[in-house]
Amino acid sequence: MSQPTVVNSIAELRALTAAWRRAGATIGLVPTMGALHEGHISLTRLMREKTARTVVSIFVNPTQFGPNEDFARYPRTFEADCAKLAAAGVDAVFAPAPAEVYPEGFCTTISLAGPATAGLEDAFRPTHFAGVATVVAKLFTMVAPDAAIFGQKDFQQLAVIRRMAGDLNVPVEIIGAPTLREADGLAMSSRNIYLSPEERQAAPTLNRAMRAAAAAIRSGAPVARTLDEARAAIAAAGFVIDYLEVRDAASLAPVDQPDGRALRMLAAARLGKTRLIDNISLYD
Ligand code: AMP
Repeated sequence: MSQPTVVNSIAELRALTAAWRRAGATIGLVPTMGALHEGHISLTRLMREKTARTVVSIFVNPTQFGPNEDFARYPRTFEADCAKLAAAGVDAVFAPAPAEVYPEGFCTTISLAGPATAGLEDAFRPTHFAGVATVVAKLFTMVAPDAAIFGQKDFQQLAVIRRMAGDLNVPVEIIGAPTLREADGLAMSSRNIYLSPEERQAAPTLNRAMRAAAAAIRSGAPVARTLDEARAAIAAAGFVIDYLEVRDAASLAPVDQPDGRALRMLAAARLGKTRLIDNISLYD
């Protein structure tokens, strides 16, 4: 099992990727904030099938956290992350310090509309996607990957990044990867470690209620009433719901009733101090 090369500076990263490119290798990028779990590792596996070389970035990006969010306490487990990435056969880990990414005087951000203003995550985290899109655009110019992979777990983020990469003509293939779940249906997340044992027991109710609602809508139940019932079930498990909605899977526009288009059910809800998100296709 070979250790990935760990690089902290953009100059070292560029030297490494330039050598790979000279040797004719394609490069895949897996952006993460670390605290890696099987969901992240599944992205590296998919990427290894796609490109000759795989770079995982580990960067807890300060600009995508709001002032009252969990930036300071976000889990940082670098040694354990590197061990998992070594086992997964990743070639390089890019782990820059905040000052490497945002040097003194940094003042440029990407301004977004379309899927970034759909009224889902953006309604509760108003500066989040500008931070995400800007750091991902920077990673694209630092790594210049042939392909980059993002989880459907963050469904709106995936739509925002697809749009940003297309709109800015970044020559990168964006791959969307399925959500890995615990056996009880809870979507894997670095934030699940915040949950108390009682909250962990209640947490799968979110996905369970979503799957039940999706099944009801598939069998013809009205969307609005079904979502109300699901909201009640989720709230009864102790969640405070930010949103639970059915949207057009491509545009993220609101949907009244199914009409043959691909639909997605998306949710965010808080259990104690922990905010969980999830989404499913209506047809799974
Ligand atoms: P994060 O470290 O939370 O920024 O996530 C890094 C990448 O992993 C993002 O593209 C996420 O969508 C993806 N990801 C997070 N959780 C999962 C999961 N349970 N299954 C698959 N991908 C995931």
